[in-house]
Amino acid sequence: MTGNTQEGADARQPLPFMERTPLIAGNWKMNLDHLQAIALVQKLAWGLSDVRHDFSAAEVAVFPPFTDLRSVQTLLAADKLSLTLGAQDVSPHEAGAYTGDISAAMLAKLDVSYVLVGHSERRQGHGESDETVGLKARAAHASGMVPMICVGETAADLEEHGAAAIPVAQLTTALAQLPEDAEFVVAYEPVWAIGSGQAATPEQAEDVARALREHLRDLRGDDRAARTRILYGGSVASQNIAGFMRQPNVDGALVGGASLKVDEFTRIIQFQKHVTAG
Ligand code: PEP
Repeated sequence: MTGNTQEGADARQPLPFMERTPLIAGNWKMNLDHLQAIALVQKLAWGLSDVRHDFSAAEVAVFPPFTDLRSVQTLLAADKLSLTLGAQDVSPHEAGAYTGDISAAMLAKLDVSYVLVGHSERRQGHGESDETVGLKARAAHASGMVPMICVGETAADLEEHGAAAIPVAQLTTALAQLPEDAEFVVAYEPVWAIGSGQAATPEQAEDVARALREHLRDLRGDDRAARTRILYGGSVASQNIAGFMRQPNVDGALVGGASLKVDEFTRIIQFQKHVTAG
């Protein structure tokens, strides 16, 4: 479990201690058809049973493309696998004339638990605003799922505003659309680190995660700030996962490319082995 030390934070009282179950999430992006998806989940399940992964110590979620969800859902249910199912996007609309969109109700019916909203590839490639991201988060919550709100600065933002300002602003606007009591996960993903092989340092990730958590105290109060999981994403690999997981405010990882390689993803999930090793 990760803790919530407030080293280096401002003069405020420390947050109440709250255990946060680490979450390792695999975003497959637009990869794998439904047959390949079944094969990957089967291999992952075997790999994790081999290493006797303790799912109560770290939750594992996979985010396949929409067309794979039904197949993966069926497999998880039939084989009673402890993996959690996520979707990569959702429509902000309930139903109707929105060709190509997938509603939150449709996803919930497939036992989807988490929905990515605001991934930088959707913000950049589909012009999604912070407000749209918030409306998507609200739609996911309204159907009983937990939105995973992705935030992160570009290289130009980093130069101009520093690391935390843009992620904090993105989160603030998105949360304005979400009911006060809604559960959510935050994924801090510096855009310059996604798919580049150039991950942030653990200290950079911790600085932004801590700033986000401090800001959550203002937006949602201490209890929600203490219980909300904040993940790091951007070129996470088995080589660097331990450094991120040692940070008090980083509660897991959103993994893109490496989640498609079963052995590598399994090693990432087994981060505890390396965390204590120093
Ligand atoms: C992502 O797609 O969210 C991501 C972090 O990708 P990668 O791990 O490949 O950088």
